[in-house]
Parts: sequence; C-alpha cells; structure tokens
Amino acid sequence: MEGLSVKNKQDLQRLLLQSVKELKQHLNISKAAAGIVTLDQTTVGRVSRVDAMQQQSMAASTREMATQRLKKVTLALKSLENDCYGYCSGCDEEIALNRLLAQPEANLCLSCQDKHDRH
Ligand SMILES: [Zn+2]
Repeated sequence: MEGLSVKNKQDLQRLLLQSVKELKQHLNISKAAAGIVTLDQTTVGRVSRVDAMQQQSMAASTREMATQRLKKVTLALKSLENDCYGYCSGCDEEIALNRLLAQPEANLCLSCQDKHDRH
C-alpha cells in the first residue's frame, strides 16, 4: 500500500472521534426522548398514542442505526491504531482515500459495498 500519510490518518482519526462524540450525544438524547414517549402513552388519547408509538418506533430504528454506526466507527478507530485501517474487508484492496474521507468508518471498498447493498 502506498499507504495513507500520517496526515491522512490524523484527519481520519479526527473525523472518527468526532463521529463517536456525535453518535453518543445522539444516543443519549434519543434515550431521553424514548422515555418521554413511554410516559405519554398512559395519559394521551388513542390517536396520539398511535402517533407516539410511531414516533417511538422511528426513534428506535434511528437509535439502532446510530448504534450500528458507532460500532463501525469504534472498529475503524481500533484498526487505525493497529495500522490495518483502510483495507476492504471484502476483497482486501485498499479503500480509496476519497471514500474514507467521506465515510471514515467504511470497511468495504466501493465495488464491494455496491455488491453488498444489492443483496
Ligand atoms: Zn472490496
């Protein structure tokens, strides 16, 4: 691998740490929101209860996505530390720097991601 330069890695690490911070914040906020919805269910009418349940399930799926992303970001940070960051876990090729900068937690190259998404 021509490799990522030290600066590239620093940039990527900064992006990843930023994501960790944002995701953790998001998860804390939505945890609080989910709690409020649960309380409301006993006090509101049927229609708004349905609304509340929809909101709650939306919040739950957003939380799920954030949790998954947090896992990937954490993994990426680890592989950055172990110096095995930036390789596709599908085909072992280098992942393009542009792609990493746009999505630092990516563990698949574009063509593997494409195949993956189609399944
Ligand atoms: Zn690949």
